[in-house]
Amino acid sequence: MIIAVKRWFTVALLTTCITLARTVALAADDWQVIKINGHDYLSVDNIARFYRLPAEVAPSGAKIRLETVMNPLEFVRGSREVMINGARCWLCFPLIEQNGKFLVSRTDVAKTIEPQLRPHRIPNAGKVETVVLDPGHGGHDRGAVCRYGYEKDFALDVARKLRPLLQAKGLRVIMTREGDYFVPLEVRAQIANAARNSIFVSIHFNATDRDPNATGFEIFSFTPRGAPSTSDDWVTPTALSMQAGSEVDGQSMALSACIYHSLLGHIPEFDRGIKRARFAVLRLTRVPAVLIEGGFLTERGESQLIAKKDWRGKLAQAIGVGIENYHALGVKKQPPMLVADYRRQTKLEPTEPVIQEENLKEVDASLINLVGKSKFASPTPASTSPASSSPDSAVIVP
Ligand SMILES: [Zn+2]
Repeated sequence: MIIAVKRWFTVALLTTCITLARTVALAADDWQVIKINGHDYLSVDNIARFYRLPAEVAPSGAKIRLETVMNPLEFVRGSREVMINGARCWLCFPLIEQNGKFLVSRTDVAKTIEPQLRPHRIPNAGKVETVVLDPGHGGHDRGAVCRYGYEKDFALDVARKLRPLLQAKGLRVIMTREGDYFVPLEVRAQIANAARNSIFVSIHFNATDRDPNATGFEIFSFTPRGAPSTSDDWVTPTALSMQAGSEVDGQSMALSACIYHSLLGHIPEFDRGIKRARFAVLRLTRVPAVLIEGGFLTERGESQLIAKKDWRGKLAQAIGVGIENYHALGVKKQPPMLVADYRRQTKLEPTEPVIQEENLKEVDASLINLVGKSKFASPTPASTSPASSSPDSAVIVP
């Protein structure tokens, strides 16, 4: 469970404007930009042609289920909902219709669609040495509560199970907390920012007082500049005017999709989708960052699953495979596995990770000291060179 702290937003936005202002570069030959009230849109036909992929538009109000998805891109009329490669995703802006054409905002083409359809082309995607695992909450902050326990404990356990799996793949792992104590959100982000070539993976469980039957997985990355978050109900007209963003937006979306496809592909949970939010840990991290909501503690059946050690082991494994797929982007330069690929595979090898409890020390003070004393190498500046483009396709640089 996460509560957005909005007072940071103005500061973060201003900083982003100054440091990360870049324009979306679209080659004129490939894209016909349609201006509506000064805002840029691209047609679904144009997107399908560019990616050489069939795309469909479902009637408004349609709820696309995974089982009915036929095409890599399935939009819903008048909605922000879209299925990309068989997983649900939420656009920043709804699909609009004009003169018989369905139009997608340029922001979404650059920030939501491109990083998922061609993640291997994002500059520095998959460049990972360190995975910063962030078990949500801790100490006085219990997070969501169910009859079987607290979110803070379940999240920590998943991170503990995940760590050796990542280490076995040669990745360095730092945990923002290793015990039941609270670490301020800005410190969690600082830990990720201070580590060399890091990614940030925050682990949470969900809760709601609105719908006791709500279930499923969702994953968040930071909302692009000027765009509304997924939970925002309406869009201000000025929000559309800002198009620039950072390269990390693309990397974060790619990481989000890699982990999410693995989660859905390995565990039969409801697909709530790939979403956007301005949660503090996503806003304050300058490295690719995601926040996973691994199911609802407020739903009876799901809370029973989350309370099971073996199920949490499965969750850790699925997250691990997703991170591995993201990492492989940097090496193989190939698109990662998708939900359907995972489902075709025989089941995950049943390797319950061995947890060396005695090695898990309470290291809050030492960790904060490390960050304060800048013992980690400073993050390498993001490359400013655009991705190389092939003659037959334009590059969308977020
Ligand atoms: Zn939480």
